[in-house]
Amino acid sequence: MTIGVLELQGDFEKHHQILQTLGFESVSVRNQIDLQRISGLVIPGGESTTFSKLIDQNNLRKSLKVFANKYPILGTCAGLIIMAQKVSDSKVNPLGIFDVDVTRNAYGRQIHSSTENIQFLIDRNTITCPTTMIRAPRIDRIGKNVEIIGSFNENPIAIREGHHVGLNFHPELNGISHFHKFTFLQGWKTSQTKQENRMYVT
Ligand code: GLN
Repeated sequence: MTIGVLELQGDFEKHHQILQTLGFESVSVRNQIDLQRISGLVIPGGESTTFSKLIDQNNLRKSLKVFANKYPILGTCAGLIIMAQKVSDSKVNPLGIFDVDVTRNAYGRQIHSSTENIQFLIDRNTITCPTTMIRAPRIDRIGKNVEIIGSFNENPIAIREGHHVGLNFHPELNGISHFHKFTFLQGWKTSQTKQENRMYVT
C-alpha cells in the first residue's frame, strides 16, 4: 500500500520514516498526478497560511477534496487546521474535510512547544504517549460525527471523522506510529462507538 505525504512545505521527512517502519511505501505528493498513485495521505505540520496558498497555486484544492471522499487522510497540526471547516484566521482557506472549527496558535506561549504525556483511546486500546505541541491549534467546535480520541485540559486534541484522523500535535517527532497505523491500517473500523469514546474523555 502506498501512502503519500503532502510536501508543499513543512515537516515531512519523519512521516516518511514512520510510514516505512509500518511497512508502507511512502511517496511525496506535490501535484494532482501524485495523488493518483496513493491510497492514503499525511498532511504534515507547517504553516497553515502557506499551505492554503500553495494548495491553490498547485491547483490541488478540488483534487484533495475528491481524494478525501475515498481515502484516509492523517492531518497533524497545520494539517488539521487546513482540513477544518472554519479557521479563526481569514488567511487560511480550509478544505472543510473535518466538521470542526479551530483557532490557530491558541495555546499561546504557555505550551508554545511542550511535550505532555497524554492518554488516547486508539483501536479499543488505551495508550499513553508523549505528545509534542508546537504552536498548536485548539479545536473549538466539533460536529456530531466527530469522535474524540484524546484530550488535553478538556480540549479535544485528537479526532476521527469517517476515515480521517486529525491531531493538533506531532507524533512523528516522538517516533509515535500508533496514529499512522490507526489511520492507514484502518484501526478505526474496530473502534468503540462514538458514545463510548465520548464517555471516556469526559
Ligand atoms: N501554528 C501553525 C499554523 O497555524 C501550525 C504549527 C504546526 O504545524 N506545528 O499553521
